[in-house]
Amino acid sequence: MNPVYLDYAATTPLDSRVLEEMIPYFSDEFGNPSSAHLFGQRAESALEKSRRSLAEDLNCLPGEVIFTSCGSESDNLALRGGALAGLEHHGADHILISPIEHPAVYQTARELHERHNFDVEYLPVDSRGMVDPQVVIERLRPGTALVSVIHANNEIGTINPISEIGAICRAVGVPFHTDSVQGAAHTPIDVYQLNVDLLSIGAHKFYGPKGVGALYVRGGNSLIPHLTGGSQEFGLRAGTENVPLIVGLSRAFHFAQSELEERSKRLQALRDELISTVLDVVPDAELTGHPQKRLPNHTSFVFREADGNFLVSLLDSAGYACSSGSACKTGKPAPSRVLRALGFSPAWASGGLRVTLGIPTTLEDLEGFLDILPGCVEKARKRS
Ligand SMILES: *Cc1c(COP(=O)(O)O)cnc(C)c1O
Repeated sequence: MNPVYLDYAATTPLDSRVLEEMIPYFSDEFGNPSSAHLFGQRAESALEKSRRSLAEDLNCLPGEVIFTSCGSESDNLALRGGALAGLEHHGADHILISPIEHPAVYQTARELHERHNFDVEYLPVDSRGMVDPQVVIERLRPGTALVSVIHANNEIGTINPISEIGAICRAVGVPFHTDSVQGAAHTPIDVYQLNVDLLSIGAHKFYGPKGVGALYVRGGNSLIPHLTGGSQEFGLRAGTENVPLIVGLSRAFHFAQSELEERSKRLQALRDELISTVLDVVPDAELTGHPQKRLPNHTSFVFREADGNFLVSLLDSAGYACSSGSACKTGKPAPSRVLRALGFSPAWASGGLRVTLGIPTTLEDLEGFLDILPGCVEKARKRS
């Protein structure tokens, strides 16, 4: 039996239509977009066409799109660049983030605290991982350099009220960043409607290539670059642009956003069926994250007193590739930081399982998975 992939929140396969459009830029069209000659001009034209297409799909201007090497780099540029600009320009030294940020934001905020003495404050989240916009009003200070709240959480699927939080930050002129790396595959990304100043995406989460991302930077927001050298990307990110990967990112984003409804509708029906069956057939199981305001392809559970990492390896041996939470390797026994922030005790938080669906997922895949899941959970409980 072929193994079944149920880990689309970790990464997705490349859309063959996207691959086809990338190929010429690995070979014949190899020019450096910064070169003045014809080879360079042709590469630059592909680069700028990709920037215009992505800007149109994000509902922003081409000059507000910065290409990066991954979602993590976009998050780093937003956090570091935004916080350090706030410090330099107005002495702002306060950062507000949620406790359930992806490590690319969470660890970067910690670095900013440890190396630059920023005061990092964590917004409370409810038991489903939602940030209450009203709380943001209370926590904003005159010295707030940046607010960052994850759009759709990778571990629990919850979708935050980004537009409302953004409106609150906009009213007081504090830059607002959201990590939409997980959201971009399955939620509409319109930076104007979302009221964001900074927004991160990464192509491999929406059927594009690995190793390329983008950051939306709303006009008028200044960032201190962390990669210096040439004047590529409006001076915000030095380094010769990776033209084939950028072409792939912009095409994959276009397909994801224009095919959003069909993709989401089918996956959401499978998701809801999977959630209700798991809760039915496995005792002492709970859904994590919001039951409705969650990614349409995302399910996540905790099983009381089960060893989540062991469960993932049992499922893998049975032919099903899932995750215990984030894409991090197993063998890290600490209970999930995100599940702890939601209020789960260690007895529950160590037994996390994330099952995420994708375009190729079928009902038969899920039926086979549901047949073996209860037995695997039982074994994973004996181990813990
Ligand atoms: C995957 C992911 C990232 C990191 O993106 P990379 O392109 O793998 O660096 C950041 N944030 C979220 C929410 C993610 O899911």
